[in-house]
Amino acid sequence: MDDKTKLIDAGRHPDMQGGAVNPGVFRASTVLFPTVAEFERPRHYPDVGYARYGTSTAFNLQEALAAIEGDGQCLTVSSGKAAVIQALLAFVEPGSHILVTDSAYGPTREFADGFLARFGVETTYYDPTIGSGIVDLFRPNTRVLFLESPGSLTFEVQDVPALCEAARARGIVTIMDNTWATPLYFKPLAHGVDVSVLAATKYIGGHSDLMMGTITTTPALADRVRHAVHDMGTPAAPDDCWLALRGLRTLAVRLAQHQAGGIEMAEWLRGRPEVAQVMHPALPEHPGHTLWKRDFTGASGLFAIRLKPVAKPALTAMLDGLELFGMGFSWGGFESLIIPAKLTRLRTATRWPEGGPTLRIHIGLEATDDLKADLAAGFERMARAA
Ligand SMILES: *Cc1c(COP(=O)(O)O)cnc(C)c1O
Repeated sequence: MDDKTKLIDAGRHPDMQGGAVNPGVFRASTVLFPTVAEFERPRHYPDVGYARYGTSTAFNLQEALAAIEGDGQCLTVSSGKAAVIQALLAFVEPGSHILVTDSAYGPTREFADGFLARFGVETTYYDPTIGSGIVDLFRPNTRVLFLESPGSLTFEVQDVPALCEAARARGIVTIMDNTWATPLYFKPLAHGVDVSVLAATKYIGGHSDLMMGTITTTPALADRVRHAVHDMGTPAAPDDCWLALRGLRTLAVRLAQHQAGGIEMAEWLRGRPEVAQVMHPALPEHPGHTLWKRDFTGASGLFAIRLKPVAKPALTAMLDGLELFGMGFSWGGFESLIIPAKLTRLRTATRWPEGGPTLRIHIGLEATDDLKADLAAGFERMARAA
């Protein structure tokens, strides 16, 4: 079955919900057992019998997501960050060493540098484009290789198969944050990754109205990850699972539109005199374009630009007057966003060259002509203020 069909079909059980196309929202703490025999029966996921482990609302979503990720076990937790940290905690102990891409999402770094360091786990950041050269950084106590591709804010594309092959040969677990592409445009498990992590907050939800993380694991590591997730005790809420499942049904059409709008806007920005650089993997001049073309089947609507050097008041004049582009964290909803990115303090293994300001842009589902007019008016305000 094609992914587009799976998105519609997977995790749907009308026979169990009075014939309705969509499931109900099963809000619960207690889940009742009909008999002593049922109560005493050894329990295995997904029928664990207490709502902290999920209700059928979560199980429907997990089933649908696992189908798109390409088999394996999918668990849903309370945020994307919770998914990242619980995947990491499943595989480390005091004295462990982990390798994290230098382009990782900022809060992932904060967790590694703060919490993990306090508990005796050492982190080395690596150049996202290191490829099979990663072997030089392996130590006897390296437990996890953490990937994120394209990188947060800077969009370096990683050679995922090469990194995973090197790690597997040494028994090192690979975890990948695949929030940008979603499993529709990149399949971590099929490229050798052991644990695929998503901020479902972004494109899976797709409407800026929920927070959720998902962790999908190969069968070999499923027990280990499930224990870690259950120990942390932070499940996704049933209402959010329902919204995420509703979002998932339209993921293919939304992403296709984000992709088309994103590429059109990236190309338009490339031609603007105010712009020094556009960081979008689908543009042929992007350093990661060849890898992106080899491994990905599409691009989402998130990319970054670097402006030519401009004074702060001029940049402020541009951003403050935008009417369609909102300024705010998160992305992946139906609306366009723009945010100035501070990069230098987020890089330790590689250097982010000084220069003009970097802006991270999310292209929503608006008409691109309106988005261009909004940015063009912003550039005019910038010129007037300069
Ligand atoms: C947003 C994001 C997260 C965290 O997701 P939350 O639901 O906001 O906690 C993790 N990784 C990436 C790449 C993200 O963009």
